[in-house]
Amino acid sequence: MSEVSLETACAILEVDLGAIVANWRLLCRRHVTGPVAGVVKADAYGLGASQVVPALYDAGCRHFFVALLDEALAIRDLAPDALIGVLSGIVPGSEAYYQRFGITPVLCSLADLDAWSTLAQRSGQRLPAMLQVDTGMHRLGLSHHDLTVLRDEPARLAGIDITYVLSHLVASEEPDDPKNVQQADRLDAALGHLPAAPVSFANSSGIFLGDRWCSALARPGAALYGINPTPGAPNPMRSVVRLSTRVLAVREVLPGETVGYNGTWTASRVSRIAVAGIGYADGLSRALSNRGRAYCDGRALALVGRVSMDLTTFDATDYPDVDCGSWLEIIGPNQSPDDLAAICGTNGYEILTSLGRRFARVYHPA
Ligand SMILES: *Cc1c(COP(=O)(O)O)cnc(C)c1O
Repeated sequence: MSEVSLETACAILEVDLGAIVANWRLLCRRHVTGPVAGVVKADAYGLGASQVVPALYDAGCRHFFVALLDEALAIRDLAPDALIGVLSGIVPGSEAYYQRFGITPVLCSLADLDAWSTLAQRSGQRLPAMLQVDTGMHRLGLSHHDLTVLRDEPARLAGIDITYVLSHLVASEEPDDPKNVQQADRLDAALGHLPAAPVSFANSSGIFLGDRWCSALARPGAALYGINPTPGAPNPMRSVVRLSTRVLAVREVLPGETVGYNGTWTASRVSRIAVAGIGYADGLSRALSNRGRAYCDGRALALVGRVSMDLTTFDATDYPDVDCGSWLEIIGPNQSPDDLAAICGTNGYEILTSLGRRFARVYHPA
C-alpha cells in the first residue's frame, strides 16, 4: 500500500479484487476440462501480486504461474500449498532454490532437464517439474529435435516427475489463425514422444477457442485482469482497474499560444487547459500525446500537447466545471485498458504492466 494518502495523492489506482475473483470463476466455468491457474507474473500484470494472489487463493485457486524465480519466492508464503510454476526456465545454478522453497520449474530445454535430473539424482528424490514443448512460438520450450532426443534417451528424465506438459499459443486471440490448429496438432504429436502426463495449454484467449484447446490446466493472465480475451466480440470479463488523476491547475491559454514541450499543440481559441498529475513516468504512454483522452462524468477531454514525465494537459474549455481538484478518469468505465492500448498502438497487457509505482493504490476486497 502506498504511503501517500488519498487526500493528497495526484493519482489513484483502484483494483477490484472481487472482479478478479469473479473473472477467475467465469474462466473456471468455461474451462471444464481441468482447473484454472492464475498467471501472476510481472506483479500480477502490474496490479499487485501480494494482493491478487491471496484473493485468488481464498477463492480456491491452487495453481499459479510467474515468469521468474524471484516472483515465485515473493508469493510462496501467500499460497502455502499451491503449485507455483516459473515459466522462464531454470537459470543455471538456481535449481537448489526451486527445491528448497517448493517451486516448480518449467523445464524449457534439454539443459534445464539435465540440470533438474542431476539435482534429483544427487538428492535421492523424485522432483516435480513441468515440461514446456515448443509448438510454434519459437522462444522457449523443447524443439521437435529435443523431443526425438528424449524419446531415444528416456534416462534423461531420471528422477523427474512431470506434473504437466505445457505449450503456449501464438495467436489465440485470433480464432481463425491456422496456427491454433497447427499448434494443437504439434502438441498431440509431441505427447507421443513423452511419458504420459497431464497437459496445460490454453492461456486466456485459448480458453475461448474451443474444446480442443482446453486441457488439464488453463493458464490465463490477461482475462483475470479484465482484458478482452475475445477481441472483436464483446468483453465477457469484468473490468478490474480504475485510474484517476487529479487536476492540479487550470490555466487559460490565448489563441496562438502552445501547450507543453516543443509546442506541439496550439490553441485556436481562448482555452482552459487542465493540468493533471500523471505522466509517462506513471505509465501514461508518451504516444498518447495529442491523441489520448480523459473523462470527467462521462465527458471526454482531449489530451493536448505532449505527455510529460509527471504532468499531462487536457482541454477543458467546454467544461467550466472541471477545475483545480477535479478528478479525471484515465482508466475506468469510459476507457478500458484495451481502449487506451488501441489509441497508442499496443495491447492492454502493456498498458497494465506499465502502470507506475507512484499511485496511491486502493484494493477493493473480494
Ligand atoms: C503470460 C503467459 C500466459 C498467460 O497469457 P494470457 O494471454 O495473459 O492469458 C500463459 N502461458 C505462458 C507461457 C505465458 O507466458
